[in-house]
Amino acid sequence: MRTLKGIGVSPGVVIGKVKVLRAEEITVPKVNVKDSEIPNEIARFEEALTKTRAELLGIRRKISQEIGRDHSDIFNAHLLILEDRTLIEDVIGLIKSEKVTTEYAFSVILQRYFHAFSQIDDEYLKERISDIKDIGKRVLSHLMSQERESLVSLREAVIVVSHDLSPSDTATMDRKNVIGFATDIGGPTSHTAIMARSMEIPAVVGLERISKEVTSGDKLIIDGTHGLVIINPDESTVEKYLSEGKKFAMYILELEKLRNLPAETKDKHQVELAANIEFPDEIPSVISHGANGIGLYRTEYFYLNRQDLPTEEEQFVAYKTVAEQMKPNPVVVRTLDLGGDKFLSSLDVPREMNPFLGWRAIRFCLTRVDVFRAQLRAILRASHYGNLKIMYPMISNLDELRQAHEILRSVGEELTKEGIPYDKDIDVGAMIEIPSAAITSDSLAKEADFFSIGTNDLIQYSLAVDRVNEKIAYLYQPTHPAILRLIQQTIKNAHDNKIWVGICGEMSGDPVSALLMVGMGVDELSTSPFVLPKIKKVIRSVNFSDVKALAEKVLSDFHTAEEIRNYAEKELNRLIPGFSDEYLT
Ligand code: PEP
Ligand code: MG
Repeated sequence: MRTLKGIGVSPGVVIGKVKVLRAEEITVPKVNVKDSEIPNEIARFEEALTKTRAELLGIRRKISQEIGRDHSDIFNAHLLILEDRTLIEDVIGLIKSEKVTTEYAFSVILQRYFHAFSQIDDEYLKERISDIKDIGKRVLSHLMSQERESLVSLREAVIVVSHDLSPSDTATMDRKNVIGFATDIGGPTSHTAIMARSMEIPAVVGLERISKEVTSGDKLIIDGTHGLVIINPDESTVEKYLSEGKKFAMYILELEKLRNLPAETKDKHQVELAANIEFPDEIPSVISHGANGIGLYRTEYFYLNRQDLPTEEEQFVAYKTVAEQMKPNPVVVRTLDLGGDKFLSSLDVPREMNPFLGWRAIRFCLTRVDVFRAQLRAILRASHYGNLKIMYPMISNLDELRQAHEILRSVGEELTKEGIPYDKDIDVGAMIEIPSAAITSDSLAKEADFFSIGTNDLIQYSLAVDRVNEKIAYLYQPTHPAILRLIQQTIKNAHDNKIWVGICGEMSGDPVSALLMVGMGVDELSTSPFVLPKIKKVIRSVNFSDVKALAEKVLSDFHTAEEIRNYAEKELNRLIPGFSDEYLT
């Protein structure tokens, strides 16, 4: 028996048999060919590309029908790699000049691509390496007539162990028989993690060597809540985890009972609980987790993984679907928040020294008005079909808000002239995620219909801590007094001006921070769908008067993030017996 520690990215416990999806490179020996064989090698290459293309189109069709177009779009990037003229010509050139087999030439050129991509200091492009690898393996398996191991049809329930899981592995997977994931690499926002959470199966990533340490058929325990994996556990460990698994299942059942109950404190103070989404196909999960609406619909994912810009029509269809499915509940559509860690392949955005402080989000939209108008037209048109609201990201001053309003007004006029119906009273809000916006929220509140505080960025910009740099992660402190004061000030300014204010950063998914913010009087919390029941349960376990007093006390009596966190945790344990054990493990 051996225990490995990784990063738990999807909670729960599962015990089962391993299926290792081998991720090793297919090794290709160098084999020379005669001059007369060269045309045949080139023909083989073209045939392999055609077969791979047909395979990918098949997968794309299947995903599009079963899961939705947004997910199938990832394969457009794969198809583009296959059609890359430079890559094709490089391979043919090498076959001719070195007189080698197609598979050898192809693997050499692929290695050059990997090398070139890994030198680029750009996380988004680095991630494309896995797309190229995925394609490379498919083409090579056709050339070498090797059947790629897959998860397409499984005879029994398995825990999938792999170096990493590619979108095409998970997309074609036999979902009913996959009960857990464990991978060598990845973090909380990796593809494997997102997939596991949407399938609601336990997963641990970042285990470094798990794919080398187990073989198919081994017994494995995955504890996704604590980020542990136990290889070939003994009887007593299996017993212990069987009971952990039962406890977790009961806990989920208990949370499900809360689905149709309001998020209100014991003394009847109500809070709206909403969900953050990226894709329309997350709506069933939003509804099943009991959200009152969508507090943040991130739309930049439309623009990723593609060479062209999304059309107004394409966006309209997605926004309309979400509006209709959530009706009469509200959906806050955030306009394009490009930049920082979200790069777009379809737009020619120059690289910058400080991308988080650069030409991004609303700043980008106010210059690329063509892109902005297309999105606003799509949102306004869709607003006719449900309860949509518009929200601008990264507002740093009143001028930006005014300029955005002006563009929206002119887009509305255009639609009116064209006789296209839309919600003329649509609410338009500002994200408060830059300290200057929080500090001047009294002025902004006079010209916005609502605020949503983006604590992920508010923390990053207020504390000068890059949110994706793990070296300084210890400085990323949600309960820093500066953050709580900015939140408090924003809530007060919103309420003084009779507008509502929500929180849509990760802080709303943390039970301690969520209760502190409820105590400060926030009107809405928006977070990942699967965290909502837990947040609802903690809200229903306290009195508003108690968390209000707690928020006041931490703001006045404590001076460091740690002191505040410790005191809040201690006090919440007093108010909700067993709080830490139940909610913070
Ligand atoms: C935020 O900054 O808190 C937020 C919700 O937006 P994003 O994480 O998309 O930047
Ligand atoms: Mg943000």
